Amino acid sequence: MRSRIVTLSKELNENFRERDEEIAGSLLAMLSGEHVLFIGPPGTAKSMLARELCKSIKEGNFFYYLLTRFTTPDEIFGPLSLSSLQEDIFRRNIKGYLPTAHVSFLDEIFKANSSILNSLLTILNERKYHNGCEILDVPLISVFGASNELPEENESLEALYDRFLFRFYIGYVQDETNFVDIILGHSEDFTPSVQLTVEEIRKELQESADVTIDNDVMDSIVALRKEFRTSSISISDRRWKKMVGVLKVAAHSLGRANVDKSMLPILKHMLWNRPEEKVTIRKRLVEMAVAGGLNLDKEQQYLQDLHDSAKQLKDFDLPEVVTCKSCGQRFFNWKGLQVHASAFHDHAYILPDDETLYQLWKHKVSPHLLPNLIELYATRGHPVILTTPPQEKELYIKELDDFQEDMGTLEEDLGREREALVGILNNNIWLTPRDREEIMAQYDIKTKAMIKMKKLHSETREIVLSEDVIEP
Ligand SMILES: [Zn+2]
Repeated sequence: MRSRIVTLSKELNENFRERDEEIAGSLLAMLSGEHVLFIGPPGTAKSMLARELCKSIKEGNFFYYLLTRFTTPDEIFGPLSLSSLQEDIFRRNIKGYLPTAHVSFLDEIFKANSSILNSLLTILNERKYHNGCEILDVPLISVFGASNELPEENESLEALYDRFLFRFYIGYVQDETNFVDIILGHSEDFTPSVQLTVEEIRKELQESADVTIDNDVMDSIVALRKEFRTSSISISDRRWKKMVGVLKVAAHSLGRANVDKSMLPILKHMLWNRPEEKVTIRKRLVEMAVAGGLNLDKEQQYLQDLHDSAKQLKDFDLPEVVTCKSCGQRFFNWKGLQVHASAFHDHAYILPDDETLYQLWKHKVSPHLLPNLIELYATRGHPVILTTPPQEKELYIKELDDFQEDMGTLEEDLGREREALVGILNNNIWLTPRDREEIMAQYDIKTKAMIKMKKLHSETREIVLSEDVIEP
């Protein structure tokens, strides 16, 4: 079955440019017994795409209708049976109409008027049709609806909109070559080389009930629901339940026993109500698809601290003791003197055997330099060279060596985690190349963090080992 879906998807993609999202989503919708809505401007091949998708089902009854405001129930559900009427029974001849269809395409669906809507909603939702006083089970798998725009504010139409779990906003093709192809285009009828049977689809749906949902997937769904509630996106619990069902079907059709978080981006066509929500939702799902796993935060923080403290550590033993004439404090190293001088700008210092008062903080603009003392030391043959004190140097080098070893292990683990993700994504036919790219890009934030960490590590070693000459 998986290989047939791959073939179908490939053939449909050859026929329709830039529609891989719609094709993958629609095939999955059919397997899941869900309805699909195409919204977009005229001339975007919405109806052709829906019609060709329906051909994927073998021996399926197909019902197509272009609705207007004046469409009557006769046109959708079948004409009244005259023979029944003679017996005072209200019944329609439904053969060849929506109540006997496996797949249906209803163009301009939001033009449906109130005389149609109730029966339509019942068929979509409960797969039942009330033919007179008889309640019939309808064989419907999926309805493809199309519309140029979202429904107007109207309770019944909003209810109808809600019935479509999969929603696609179809724009014009972007790529010029693809556009030229369409203009010059193939007019011959598309016939897929393989098909799925109605029975297979029903079986798929039944068997998928045994698929389990990973805990982190459920956690993500709960988190999403919470996030959406605080924003303006409202999704009924019924829709959430259906989405979980679709994820199960997706997993089962891949031969998997569980739904893992890398499958979350499949929900991107089911979560939005208004097209402007699409980008945010997609981004959030991609983030969730790679959330968790190896975490570098602790290591990054540790290395940053090591780096910062290595910088602080460098010092220079004063060749002659410096005394603060203002408060009497004596200084043996550069750091102590610098701290004091920066705290008390007006203090003055003396050196042994020298009556000169040195003001060390004349140049407030450069807080790390004590210019006249540096000059003095230079003239006396003691250039100021900041180095890491030997004992600390040894400790730091050991820390850095240990860290390097940990980093090596982490890098290997990261490589394995990445490879596993690539494997699980490549095997997932319900994700488009763009989905995979976005998921990998999101994952590679970690890979980049690793590269950054290695750089910071070698910089830190450099700091510990180097000698900084302070120029007068
Ligand atoms: Zn002082």
